[in-house]
Amino acid sequence: MIIKPKIRSNVFTNCHPLGQEQFILNLITEAKKQKPIGSKKNVLIIGGSSGYGLASRIALAFGMNANTINVSFESGPKGKRTGTAGYWNNIFFQKHTKNYPQTDKDFNGDAFSKAMKNDVIDYIKTHFGKLDLIIYSLASGARKDETTGALVRSAIKTIGTPAKGHTIELAKEEVTPLNVEAASSEEIKNTVFVMGGSDWQTWLENLSQNDCLNDGVKTISYTYIGGETTDAIYRNGTIGQAKEDLEKTAGKLNQLLKEKHRGEALISSSKAVVTKASVFIPQMPIYVACLFDVMMEKGIHESILAHKYRLFKDMVYGTKAIKDDDGFLRVDHREMQSDVQHATKTLMAAYTNDKIFTLKGTKAMLDDFYHMNGFGFSNIDYDQPVDMDALQQLKLN
Ligand code: NAD
Repeated sequence: MIIKPKIRSNVFTNCHPLGQEQFILNLITEAKKQKPIGSKKNVLIIGGSSGYGLASRIALAFGMNANTINVSFESGPKGKRTGTAGYWNNIFFQKHTKNYPQTDKDFNGDAFSKAMKNDVIDYIKTHFGKLDLIIYSLASGARKDETTGALVRSAIKTIGTPAKGHTIELAKEEVTPLNVEAASSEEIKNTVFVMGGSDWQTWLENLSQNDCLNDGVKTISYTYIGGETTDAIYRNGTIGQAKEDLEKTAGKLNQLLKEKHRGEALISSSKAVVTKASVFIPQMPIYVACLFDVMMEKGIHESILAHKYRLFKDMVYGTKAIKDDDGFLRVDHREMQSDVQHATKTLMAAYTNDKIFTLKGTKAMLDDFYHMNGFGFSNIDYDQPVDMDALQQLKLN
């Protein structure tokens, strides 16, 4: 099968498996160049097949030879379907860690479900050993409510008044106007149910009750704070409400972990990067393009891997943690510098039209967008057919 990019509303509906292998190899090469993070740990990553969860997994697997369990929800290839990028990321992560002194296990299915939690707990008890770190890095548009059987959907909307702005139609490389509607109270509640902290809390409570946590265990989840230009849609919108709930959950978990395991629960406010979830958020592509440009110009741009690597090396397991008044780890401090925010806002005002495609920040954002779906690698001939039958022999452990 010859595979060319298929994109709808900034979402890839396919991926290139050979490019996905290159993507993973590049992340591994980048991780191997970094200094060691600390002693080996047992890590569970919920949402480790792409974006920040995958970057965390690779940073820890190569920074400290961490044993990792990943829970993600991905589709394998079927007929003319290539399978999702995250599916192949998991396959190639395992393939390229085979010769390293660590255990890698992947569970593919719904992390919100009781059944998945039980399967992971069984595996920890029978094969893996107690956990030292749990990373909660889910980004999902829907969650099944197991008490009612209903599928609850999140909504990315404002609260109170609608917002007007612009976004980038990435496939067409076109700037388009944007109207984001105000959410109903039901939509706000549903978004908090899907993207808030209740599932993170259930995971930790279940793991604790089943004696799966080591003394000194840590758990971390990723929030986004951002600034003036993203506030209306992000922090003051439905997703911001969900993040506030997630952040409050860290407080409850901290209590539980401290008392029972001498552990802690952490929130890291992470920088805006290009992921499957972020490019889908209205206005984010324009913000990220301009932010990248400003940070590149100032010499402080970081890749997704470097960002997570620094979080673990300097902050979670290091002595250079930057904490705010709420106790959040502010690994986003460079993005939040007032000169960076000011320059990004100025650039956004001047470049909210096709001129934006002249920026090197936009080029970097588009490169990340294509690379994370296996496209745009110069060593891959995209006119050649991909032998999907042979690739399907690769199975997950
Ligand atoms: P992503 O879309 O790249 O990754 C989401 C992960 O969740 C994938 O591994 C996916 O398989 C998994 N997932 C989704 N639904 C699932 C389910 N039901 N069961 C099991 N796995 C499921 O997203 P991302 O951008 O890396 O986001 C991860 C976290 O980081 C989110 O909390 C997000 O808000 C936060 N964050 C992201 C950014 C950013 O710029 N991307 C910035 C700050 C914080």
